[in-house]
Formats: sequence, structure tokens, C-alpha cells
Amino acid sequence: MRNRSKLQEQLLAWYDKHQRVMPWRAVKGRTPDPYHVWLSEIMLQQTTVVTVGPYFMKFLSKWPTVTALAKAKLDDVLTAWAGLGYYARARNLHKCAQVIVAEYSGRFPSAQDELLALPGIGPYTAAAISSIAFNQPAVAVDGNVERVVSRIDAIEEPLPASKETLRAHAAEIANNNTRPSDFTQAFMELGATVCTPRKPKCPSCPWQKSCKAYNKGIAEELPRKLLKAKNPVRYGKVYWIQKKSGEFLIEKRIGKGLYEGMFQLPTTAWTDKAAAKKLPHPFDKKLRFKSLEATVRHTFTHFDLVLEIWSAPAGKDFSPGSGLFVSTAEIEAYALPTLMQKVMKLCLRQ
Ligand code: SF4
Repeated sequence: MRNRSKLQEQLLAWYDKHQRVMPWRAVKGRTPDPYHVWLSEIMLQQTTVVTVGPYFMKFLSKWPTVTALAKAKLDDVLTAWAGLGYYARARNLHKCAQVIVAEYSGRFPSAQDELLALPGIGPYTAAAISSIAFNQPAVAVDGNVERVVSRIDAIEEPLPASKETLRAHAAEIANNNTRPSDFTQAFMELGATVCTPRKPKCPSCPWQKSCKAYNKGIAEELPRKLLKAKNPVRYGKVYWIQKKSGEFLIEKRIGKGLYEGMFQLPTTAWTDKAAAKKLPHPFDKKLRFKSLEATVRHTFTHFDLVLEIWSAPAGKDFSPGSGLFVSTAEIEAYALPTLMQKVMKLCLRQ
């Protein structure tokens, strides 16, 4: 039987000494702002701390409170989010801000079940907000915590089947700790900075003596993971239509789903390789397209995409239809996803 309260003391003492300064983290002795905690947790899903930092600061300067964010136009939120990926998060962020203002007078609820009912907030984020912002005894298990737990208890069952086991072990370790907000952050911080996926820094770890994987010499092998099936690949064409002045054509993506409400360079449907080859361009036949002999690859959660790039000069009589021509300076004001930014940069280099 392990001494749980000793483990908790060791982790909190380590955190008090080694916690990193983060723009969204409250300084010692201050209560974290739930708006900051929520915003950072949504941004950090699938994204690294280094990438999120500038986006977080930009959002706070544009919309310092959840009420200000709720009043923002969705297009402006998507534009500020452009480049962070997984754009459904930005739409839900905006929706969630509006619900918090309408139903909670602009104050985040502290209970996990109320948080869970909000748009874009799943079990992990609800637990993270409840514990970090409100010091409630909730256990937020992210990839970092899963890794630490799999090692300290030498859990060899592979992910994702082991998720529930890892959660139960994390809850047992965190149970009845005296500082839930700090403990949640400390658990994640240990995984992010010491118990890293490769070459964990065990000599600097407060839990080294109790760590079963360390003692067995298998730390770096855990957590085991089932090999993921390869993503299917879709293909398509993307069009770079540019005026002599340098302005190029963009359009608002129509329909629901991927990149909903964002801007793009005109593109065909994304389909299998053979069908993509035969897809005609949707413009006036007078446009003289040539292949740039370049492709852009992009990985989405459920498929990989390969886009062939075609370009054509826009003559004086070219009508942009529902699209619009923008300069490289003006494009900053439009929500252009990372995929399309990659294409744009490549075309501008030609
Ligand atoms: Fe991770 Fe090493 Fe600490 Fe074990 S001793 S929890 S493997 S850093």
C-alpha cells in the first residue's frame, strides 16, 4: 500500500519550486481567472503551449472578458483563431461565451456537470476548469497525466483501452489532496517537463522512489499504444488566381462542417485520386490554368489531404463571382486556415 499523502506532498513541493510561468497561470497566491483557464484549455487541445501563447495574448487583448468575447462577431473570432486548427473549437468557444453571458450572467459555473453542459466542454475540460479555476476536487486526465500514471504504476495495458484504468489510478493518487487547483496543474506539469515521452528525467522526479516503471527499467516503453490505422488519403485541386496588381482570389467556404465559415482559395471537392484527376475547374473556360507542379499535404484527424496547385492570371474581364480579391496585407483580416496559408505561401514564392 503506497503512502498517498506523501506522494501528494512530494508533487506539490516540486510544483512550488518548478512550475513554469504561463500567460494563463495565476501567480502564486492569486486565484486563477476562470475565463483565462477556459480559454487556455480550449486552445491547448491538440496544440502546444508554445503555439498557444501568442494566440492567448491576442484573444485577451481583443476580448479581455467572456462578455466581450460573447459580443464579438464570429468572423472576427475565426480570423483571430486562424492557424490554430480544429476550427470547431473556435465556433464552440464563441457559442459557449454567449451561453455563459445569457444563462450565467457572465460568470463561469464551478460544478463539473454544469460546465459539461456548455458548448465545446468535454469531461477533461470540465474537470480542468472546475479544479484549476475553482479549486474543486476534480481529476483532469490529459495525455501528460496518462503518461505519468502509466509509469508510476507500471500499467502495461496499451492505450486507448487503458484510458479508464489510467483515470481510476489518477483519481486514486489525487484523492483528498489539499490543493486541487495546484495538484491538477502539478500533475500535468510533471508529465510535460519531467516525465516526458522520450528520455524522462527520472533523477529530477519527485516520485522516482515510488515509480514502478522506473524501478523495472521500462519507463520509456510506457504508455504502450496500439498502432493507429493509417489515415485514408483524399485528393483535390486548389486554384491560385492572381491579378497583375498581386491581389489573389479567395472565397468563403460554404456548407457545414470542415472550415465552416472560414475563407479559402478556391478548391475542388476532395475525393479519391482517380476522380480528382478528372475534376474540371469551376471557372470561365477562358482562364488559362497551368500546373505549378507542386502539391500541399495536410493531415486532418480522419484523413490526409493532397492538393495539386493550379494557377492562372486574372484578366480585366474576370468576374470573381461570390469570391473577392485581396492583397497579402489584407488577407490578415480573413480567417484563412493553415492548409490554405501553406498554399498561399507556396504560390507567393513562385
Ligand atoms: Fe516518470 Fe521517471 Fe518520474 Fe517515473 S520516475 S514518474 S518514469 S519521470
